[in-house]
Formats: sequence, C-alpha cells, structure tokens
Amino acid sequence: MAINLNNSNVATRENRIGSITGYIGSLKDLATQSECGTLKGCSRCFSQSSSCLSGCALGQLGAIRDIAIIHHGPAGCSVAAAGTYYIDKVMAKKRGVTNKTVYIGTDMNENDTIFGSTEKLRQIILEVNKRYSPKAIFVSSSCATGIIGEDIDSIVDEVKEEIDVPVVAVHCEGFKSRIWATGFDIADHAVLQSIVQPPREGVKTNKINFKNFFESARPEIIEMFKNFDLEPQFLYCNSTVEELSHLSEALATTCICGTLGNYIGNALEEKYGVPYVRSINQCGITGFETWLREIGKVTGRSEKIEKYIEEQRAIYIPKIEEVKKQLKGLRAVLGMGPGYTFEVSRVLNELGIEVVWALAWHYDKKYENGDVPPSMKYLLDNDIDFEASVSDQQNYEVMNVLHKYQPDLYLSRHPGSTVWAIKNGTPAVYVADEYMIFGYKHTLDFAYSILDSINNRSFEKNLAKRTKLPYTDWWYKQNVGEFMVQDKA
Ligand code: SF4
Repeated sequence: MAINLNNSNVATRENRIGSITGYIGSLKDLATQSECGTLKGCSRCFSQSSSCLSGCALGQLGAIRDIAIIHHGPAGCSVAAAGTYYIDKVMAKKRGVTNKTVYIGTDMNENDTIFGSTEKLRQIILEVNKRYSPKAIFVSSSCATGIIGEDIDSIVDEVKEEIDVPVVAVHCEGFKSRIWATGFDIADHAVLQSIVQPPREGVKTNKINFKNFFESARPEIIEMFKNFDLEPQFLYCNSTVEELSHLSEALATTCICGTLGNYIGNALEEKYGVPYVRSINQCGITGFETWLREIGKVTGRSEKIEKYIEEQRAIYIPKIEEVKKQLKGLRAVLGMGPGYTFEVSRVLNELGIEVVWALAWHYDKKYENGDVPPSMKYLLDNDIDFEASVSDQQNYEVMNVLHKYQPDLYLSRHPGSTVWAIKNGTPAVYVADEYMIFGYKHTLDFAYSILDSINNRSFEKNLAKRTKLPYTDWWYKQNVGEFMVQDKA
C-alpha cells in the first residue's frame, strides 16, 4: 500500500493492512484464512481491558531528545505522560545523555469540548516554543478532539509561519483503532512527515537505521556492527532530531520487531530507496543468522558476516545444545504482541519446548508491502503448528487457557499478564527486555532463565495457595472462543 505523507492522518492497521484483534483456532488455519481473505476482526461479548494507542504513539515520540509533545485533550488522556517522562529520563541517564523533552497536556474542560479550543491550542503551541525552545513540536489529538472535529491541522499550519522548528499534527484518537500498535505507525508517520529529509547530495554513510524500543543492547550491537564496518542508528529512544533528519541516507533499515518497525521500514524504502531488511528477527539461532545474512546481502557484506557467524557459533552452539537437553519436552503457553509471539514460538521450538498455545495481542495478516509477516511465514514454511488465538491482552482468556493446558511455563512481554499466571501457580518468564533473546549469547541466557523458572517452582506454588482468584470453575470450563463473535466475511 502506498504511503501518503501528504496527509497527516494514517489509516488504522485494521483498515490499512486488515489486522484483527480476535481469532481462535490454529496457526495454519489463521494463515489460510488470511490468505483467502476470509479472516475478519471480531467482537467480544465481554472485554476486560485494552490500551489507548496514544500511549504507543506518544511514548515513541517522547523518547526523542529535546522535543515537545502537546497532547490536546482532557487531563485524563495525558496521564501516560508521567510514565513516558520517567522512562525517557531514565533511558537518557543510562546512556549518559540529557533529554529535555517536555510533555504538555492542554487540559480540555467541558467548555472546550463543547465550543472547541483551537485558539487556546494555538497559544499553547507558541508558548511552549517560547518557553522550552524544543527541536520539534508534536501536537497530538485525543478522543475528545476527534469527536468534536477540532481542526488541529489548520492550527499547526498556521503556527508553522511563526515557529522555526518542525511542528506536526499527530492524529492518535484512542477510539479509532482497537490495535494499540497503530500508535507506532502514527509516530513514524509524524516523524516521516516533519523531520526526515531527502538524502543530501553525495553523502554516503555506513549507517543502518535500527528501530527498537529502549536500546538496551546498544553497546554490544555497536561493537558487533564494527566487524562489518556498519554503524547502527537507533531510534527513537535517545535519538536527536538532527539524527532522524538523515534516516533517508542510511544503507538499510532494520528493527527489533516487525510490529514496531514495519511502517517506517517500508516508508523509507518506498520514499527514499533505503532497503528494509525483511527477515525473521534476531531471536534465537536461526533468527539471528537469517537476520545477519539478510543484512549482509542488502549491504554487500556477506563475507564478513559469514566469518562472524562461524566464530560465534563455535563459542555458543555447544553451550546452547547442552542446555537444550534439560529443556526438551517442556510445554509452554505464550502471550505477546504478534511480532514477538511468533518469533518466540520459533525460538521455543528451536530449544525443544512445545508451544501448546500462543496468544497474540493482535494479528497483522500482512505487512505494508503486502507480505505475510516473516515470523509467521517461517513457522508455516517449517510445518510448525499449534493452537493460537488473537486476543488484545484479555487476561481472563489467558487464565482459561493456562488452567486448561497446565503448561510448565507462561511467557509474556507484559508484566500485567505474567502476574496473573504466577498467581495461578504457573511459572512465568517476563520477556521484558526486547534484547532478552537477541543473538547467540542472549539465547543461551534465555534458556538458562527458563531453567531457573522451572527448576524451583516454590514461589508460584506458595503464591497460588494463598491467592483467591476471581475466576470460577464455571469459567475454567468454558471455551474462550465462545466469547468471541467473528465478523462475517
Ligand atoms: S485518547 Fe481516548 S482512549 Fe486514549 S486516553 Fe484519551 S479518552 Fe482514552
């Protein structure tokens, strides 16, 4: 699908690429239905919780150094600012840089939601620019501004005349998508529209754009890339507006997770010819090697990469093979965003652990270029199948599945989910750090983390004994699928 940077609005994942938040069946059936076009989203007769996509959009943008976010909405919508602000400051401190980004809510009141408040917004933008001198200003909408049709675009266009840094509207009304990952695309769209510049004439770099969340493995990736004469440009955490303005000059774009990086990767390729590395991600042995080889192919460095793979295999593969002996036969359930669900399923399979059920918080049946996500394609090509559901972090469904399957292990990238599993008595691994399974070394560490979790289960057993969960026997006997109404094709 062509990416239209002339429009400040980006269509939702549901409308753009047919993503869904409800399904129950098997991996193969999910893929078959995706291919023949019968897969549709679903409604739930009960929904426990979800997230607002503005958290993803503004969380991403807030990590850029020294910018301003103006969240035009009621105070409640800006509540995520506290978490974003704190994380960004911690991440900057960890890296040894400063981040003077400010996050301002316009605090719309009843009057504003009836009569509109574009004039106030205009004044706030000008005042923020005067007071904080940010390097860029992102002006976001909310459900309230979306409902009353507040014309943020016009205000942004007007103030551009008075402000000499990029100012851009960010359309992230929470109600417009059930999929919070739409917020990642919204953030990318705003950066592409306002900050990224066409490549400078004659400028050649050895940079690779690396879209990730918190750049925790930054030092080791920089070191690794030196072997290939490449330099990663991590985004957006701690990146500067100046760095982002040159994303179009990179040799390639890659990402830690397709759900996160798909939009900007495809957009940079489409608009500026920067190749997007389309491969399974770096989790596990096969993932790491496939990803490195794809980078080698795209950047013309295959020889150096093969040498690196050979050296590293000699160090780590025997150790990983040794731990695998103790993991063989374990049964796992996992619940994560779709990028990681299908990447981690592959790694578990590689480690000899049986995936009995995988929940993906949403499902992208194809990416921006029309291809099936590589993580899914890998599982299908290798005849790996298991029961799967798509559920936007409905923990009551997770609990039903855990109770039914009694797995050795539950893995999730969201702490609010692992806590429930532990209360149920199921050992859980919180795959918090995006680099927790990155490459050979972290795959080995990950295997040890699983061993630690299952070897001593006393914490989970004791906690479960002392916890009264709200779920009844009746609920545990239900089939989670009965609570979903799949939309008709
Ligand atoms: S934008 Fe909408 S969904 Fe998001 S926090 Fe505000 S009211 Fe809630």
